Amino acid sequence: MANLFADRAKIFVRSGKGGDGHVSFRRELYVPNGGPDGGDGGDGGDVVFVIDKGLNTLTDFKNIRKYKAGDGEEGGKRRCHGKNGKDVVIKVPPGTVIKDFETGKVIIDMADREEPFILLSGGRGGKGNQHYATSTMQAPRYAQPGQPALEKTITLELKMIADVGLVGFPSVGKSTILSKVSNARPKIADYHFTTLVPNLGVVGLGEGRGFVMADIPGIIEGAAEGVGLGLDFLRHIERTRVLLHVVDAASVEGRDPIKDIDAITEELRSYSPQLAERPTIIVANKLDVLPAEEKDKIIQKLKDRFEPDIPVIPISAATGEGVKDMLETAYKMLETAPMDVMEFTPEISLEEYTSRVEELPYTVEKSEDEDGVFLVEGPRIEKMLGYTNLEDNKGFKFFQDFMVKNGIIDELKALGIEEGDTVRVYGWEFEYLE
Ligand code: GDP
Ligand code: MG
Repeated sequence: MANLFADRAKIFVRSGKGGDGHVSFRRELYVPNGGPDGGDGGDGGDVVFVIDKGLNTLTDFKNIRKYKAGDGEEGGKRRCHGKNGKDVVIKVPPGTVIKDFETGKVIIDMADREEPFILLSGGRGGKGNQHYATSTMQAPRYAQPGQPALEKTITLELKMIADVGLVGFPSVGKSTILSKVSNARPKIADYHFTTLVPNLGVVGLGEGRGFVMADIPGIIEGAAEGVGLGLDFLRHIERTRVLLHVVDAASVEGRDPIKDIDAITEELRSYSPQLAERPTIIVANKLDVLPAEEKDKIIQKLKDRFEPDIPVIPISAATGEGVKDMLETAYKMLETAPMDVMEFTPEISLEEYTSRVEELPYTVEKSEDEDGVFLVEGPRIEKMLGYTNLEDNKGFKFFQDFMVKNGIIDELKALGIEEGDTVRVYGWEFEYLE
């Protein structure tokens, strides 16, 4: 189902490819055989995220879904260094959580981070052939290719950061409460789903005391299973430290308040057990509608059922009765409520998530069928072979270094390889020499 408001977006991001190193030779008049002078490639641009405090939705990401950093330019002759690619800087609202689209794992919670976050770094530029001259190889025709770009599809999720969240069925008076106690001006109406965008308001209690309150759109039964609009809304509540569970105590719409509270509590629990444990106040609203005796009766019924675990506070958002008591109680709860619900911890390390060749897996094995044959395989090896020319001296030297640097030689030794044994790397066979 499409989201009615943009609190979640799927985007594609790509860092810049590193520019290739250049192969060229000095050509000067009257100087035959000039030395290699191929310049280095420029680095590719990074994919960077920053918080923009002026933003409060992810709507922009519904229109633009692809973000690409610039590629590094190829090196030039006469040691000319290729230009670096431009970073792409993506601005997101505070409280944005970045997740991998495929696995749904949290990569980072931007929260209200001050520093830029580099999600994907650009590929390093390759070295030009000027670096590859040796006493035996004076005219190297090899230059290092630039590192490849990285591409990912990610999900951005906006999790509002508020101290107190209003939850409850539609039309119980959540938006009315927020508008009465804060500077926020949410839409109020007596039909369901008036509130489609969560609203935030600052509540001042005097003497420098106060908190941020969020009006979270109506939860409906079955929300935790993704029925209707529910899940979108539930996502926002995760970051509030105290819940004001609002209920239409006067049954203006003929609903049973206790049944409603149980239904919503069940929704919260099935979405997230921690959410159901959050410090909560039951706000029995619309009591101006009831005559005094009926009012006392329903309040008593609610208290019998929920207190002392969960305080019940009778109010009327319309007349303002009980509202001050509700705010002071919420404030007191905030003072003791845990702070640790505020940030989502990464579920995947950035290193793992953005690994290039050097981090990909590989295997080193002794062949079971053939004596003295060892097999080296895996994505890291395949990728390296893809950009290495084994028939070229420099390329072959690079391959040898790669085998040492990656610890493959050590692993072969550990498996008992001996002088003269065969190492098979996909289509290639090498004789092992100490
Ligand atoms: P929400 O969907 O929970 O945000 O509910 P709203 O704040 O939009 O309110 C729904 C309807 O209930 C509106 O017509 C409000 O005017 C009305 N309402 C809210 N609080 C009270 C109250 O304390 N007393 C009465 N009589 N009506 C209320
Ligand atoms: Mg509302």
